[in-house]
Amino acid sequence: MLDKVISKKYCCPACKEKLNFLLDGKIICKLCSVEYPRLHGCPVLLSQDNKIFSLSEYTKSASQQLKQRSKLTKIAPQISVNLASRRVLNHFGSLFPSNEAVFVLVVGGGQQRQWLDKWMEPYHNIQLVYCDIDINAFVDCYCDAHELPFSDQVFDGVITTAVLEHVLYPEKVSNEIARVIKLGGILYSELPFMQQVHEGAYDFTRYTLSGHRRLFNTFEKIDSGMVAGPGTVLIWSIESFFVAFSSKAKTSSVIKVVVRTAFFWLKYFDYYFKNRPRAMDGASCTYLLGKRVVKKIDDQQIIQEYIGGKSVRHV
Ligand SMILES: [Zn+2]
Repeated sequence: MLDKVISKKYCCPACKEKLNFLLDGKIICKLCSVEYPRLHGCPVLLSQDNKIFSLSEYTKSASQQLKQRSKLTKIAPQISVNLASRRVLNHFGSLFPSNEAVFVLVVGGGQQRQWLDKWMEPYHNIQLVYCDIDINAFVDCYCDAHELPFSDQVFDGVITTAVLEHVLYPEKVSNEIARVIKLGGILYSELPFMQQVHEGAYDFTRYTLSGHRRLFNTFEKIDSGMVAGPGTVLIWSIESFFVAFSSKAKTSSVIKVVVRTAFFWLKYFDYYFKNRPRAMDGASCTYLLGKRVVKKIDDQQIIQEYIGGKSVRHV
């Protein structure tokens, strides 16, 4: 059952008019009268002219499956560190008033509900709303981030981790995020920089920290930095080098286990690198914590906010 307060935040992805959530479960746009289906009980709010993701695909019954790592790679050690998420999300949570209801949209929620709800538990007043396009995601709503089905300025915060590299038009999505968040609302974003292709065909781009910063130029920077550094990059690169020799999934899994077991220790260098400017220029992933402001941040200011190691001046 949809929370009444949250259901008021939804809108039609096509015309942005409010939606009618009927008692029999039907969801109908008040203006264009389109009826939106549900999948696993959750609204599927995609416009009918969405060429990549069609509404009809979501009406076929699909069983949710957790993405499983292959049995072989499961036994290998983890080769990435995360220097930021837990710490910065704590900072994120502490920035909201503790005496009023706070609504945070998780764009591209995937399976994050499994740990994010727990992480945000100390902030009892924060309610997380998860959305994703992935049919296997554990979310409150299926939608395309290019056309978020939420009215303007209805969320106090947005969390998006490693999502915008998978969308066709990242600036369109960052504008959508800026649209649904209130003025003064808080954004936490993570984006990969030096990483190999993941998610196969749905992987389109990478960002430096400056590029990441500029993508959200209607947010004032509170904090930014490294999620994983050159140590993580190096292990992934070694793995990618050896995997390039394999043509079968099974061989590639065996190679991964060997490389991960032999080189996992390289990731610990990232704890040493985390505040080193030159390491920032070779980060595996970066984060930005920002506050939504009225006026776009000047590009000049974004250039000045650079925290990497190369003191290049073009003017
Ligand atoms: Zn409509």
